[in-house]
This record gives sequence, structure tokens and C-alpha cells, in this order.
Amino acid sequence: MKFSTLSTLSLVYITAVSAKPTPRSTCSKGRTASSATCCVWYDVLDDIQANLFEGGTCGDDAHAALRLSFHDAIGYSPLLTKQGHFGGGGADGSIIKYSATELGYPANDGLEEIVYDEQKLADKHGVSYGDIIQFAGAVSVRNCAGGPRISFMAGRANAIGAAPPGLVPEAFDSVDKILGRVGDAGLTPAELVDLLASHSVGNQDTVDPTIPDTPFDTTPGVLDTNFFLETLLRGTVWPGDGANPGEVLSPLKGEFRLQSDWALARDPRTSCHWQSYVSGQSLMSQRFGTAMAKMALLGQNAQSLQDCSEVIPAPTLPVPPAAKLPAGKTLRDLELTCKASFLSEISTFLHL
Ligand code: CA
Ligand code: CA
Repeated sequence: MKFSTLSTLSLVYITAVSAKPTPRSTCSKGRTASSATCCVWYDVLDDIQANLFEGGTCGDDAHAALRLSFHDAIGYSPLLTKQGHFGGGGADGSIIKYSATELGYPANDGLEEIVYDEQKLADKHGVSYGDIIQFAGAVSVRNCAGGPRISFMAGRANAIGAAPPGLVPEAFDSVDKILGRVGDAGLTPAELVDLLASHSVGNQDTVDPTIPDTPFDTTPGVLDTNFFLETLLRGTVWPGDGANPGEVLSPLKGEFRLQSDWALARDPRTSCHWQSYVSGQSLMSQRFGTAMAKMALLGQNAQSLQDCSEVIPAPTLPVPPAAKLPAGKTLRDLELTCKASFLSEISTFLHL
């Protein structure tokens, strides 16, 4: 019995010793990190929030940073590599390092300013372009009400070449082409829909240059489900100067609709997933975060990166209210192509 007690005590002692916490690295302003390599990201965070994101808001620069994170990462094609060509390095910062080439691609129109701003930040703090793009993307999402906290891995090597042309989907591409392209990069149709939650805080500048800053839903400052609901409304008006390539009729003046969003909301391969988000804020937000974290690693080896997620501040803004039909719109204005059960679910949710 005595032996047994001693044994138990020894075990307690061993457990206590082995559970001793690993010392944390001390970073600026009294902050700490699990790895010293993460410390620099606190300084980048301070700089980004104060000087790029206008005090940590969900404004135009946050939207641009989010868009940039996709346009850099999707430049990755295992198919091209298999065919003996350079397939791009994915989330490698190539859109900054090789901006002279990649900003010449029409799909990257309008990204010049954010590329320049993030390049300056990366050079100032001595971090890689691939890292700053995905870090800024994660911080931008955290700044928008309804946005999740996205994990952040640091340590991407510098890009070794420009992404080949044609890898960023265009708004005028067919659903077949878009799903094929993102599938080649490693993303499923459902993950593409998840990523398109970003359009809830997006706007267009260059598809119709006569109406820059026109949002894709009525709540561009909030990462809510309005985008998924409003894209299901029948199109009735041109918000600007008419049918531009990649544009289809919008349900509202002051709102812009991309052809690709319209088509994905109605295609049998994606419409059920799309419609399910009309009443699913928390699920949408969570899956958006998961898909963003996966996208941030396209072309990268996660094993060689350091997890610095702790640097991304937890979201503090209130969860957005449930989606509502815009004034004057009714259930009859929705084009629901998924199975009928969704019709009653959406109808109940919207109190129609
Ligand atoms: Ca890239
Ligand atoms: Ca929104």
C-alpha cells in the first residue's frame, strides 16, 4: 500500500514536470508568442491595422486584401506541371514579386494599389510576399462583422516565377470552366462556394468602370448571408452602363451581379450548398474560414511553416442579423433551383 502511494506520488511528480509549459517568446508591447518567429507578425499587425485598414475596419482596403489573397493563391496548376510546364507556386507572393507580369493579366485588374501597399509592408518588416498576402487576408476577414478567425501559417519562401496566365477564374467564365480551374488547384465546388462568402464584403471596380465601388450585396461592410440570398433574386436592372462582359442583370440599382455568382447560385452542382447558407450564418462563417485556410496553403508545404495563428486577433464585432429580403422583394422573386425542401426552409426562415 505504501509502495503504491509512493508510486502514485512519483507519477504525479513526473506528470507535473512533463507538463511544465514551454517558455513563450517575448514580443513587442509585452505580447508573447509560442515561437520567436511569430513575433514580427504582431508588428505587421499593428502597421496593417493602423495604416492599411484605416484603424482596423472592413473597408475598401480590407476588401482588396481579401481579393488579393485569392488571386495569388489560385495561381497554381498541378495540371500544367504534369504537362511539363511551370504551374505557378500558389500562395507564394508571385503576384507581388512578379507584379509586372501578373498585374498585366485582365483578371487581376484593380489590384495594383493593394499589391504596392503590401509590398512596402513586407519589405519594411522583412517578411515574405506570400506570407504578407495571406496574413493581410486573414486580418481583413477578422475586421468584418461575421468574419471568422482564420489560421495563419508563416514561412512561405519567395516565389520563383510568375503564375502562368489564365489561372484566375473570370466572371464571364462558364461554371464548367470555373469548377475545372479551382478543381485543378485542389478546391472542391463546395469550397469554392465557401470562399465566395468573400463577395458578401466585396465590390466591383473594373467590370463596369462607370460605377466603381458597387457592392455585391446590400451589406458590403458585413460578412453576412445577404450575399447568398440576394444572388438568388431575379435580375431586373443594369446598375451602370449595361451589359459588360462578366455582368448579368442585378435585382437592385446600386448592387452589382457577376455572371459567375449568378450561375453558381443556380447550377445543380453548387446551388444546394449556396441556398443552404441563406439561413446559415455561423456555418457559412466557419466554413469560409476553413476554406480560406486551405486556400492560403495552395502550392505550399504546411509542414515547413510555423503556426502563428495566435497573432490574428479574435473577432470582436457582433454576429450579423439573419439575412432579409430587400424592401419590395418577395419569395416569388427568388430563383431557387435546389430541391423543393429548401423552398419551404427559406420561406420559413424569411417569415414569408
Ligand atoms: Ca501566386
Ligand atoms: Ca454582406
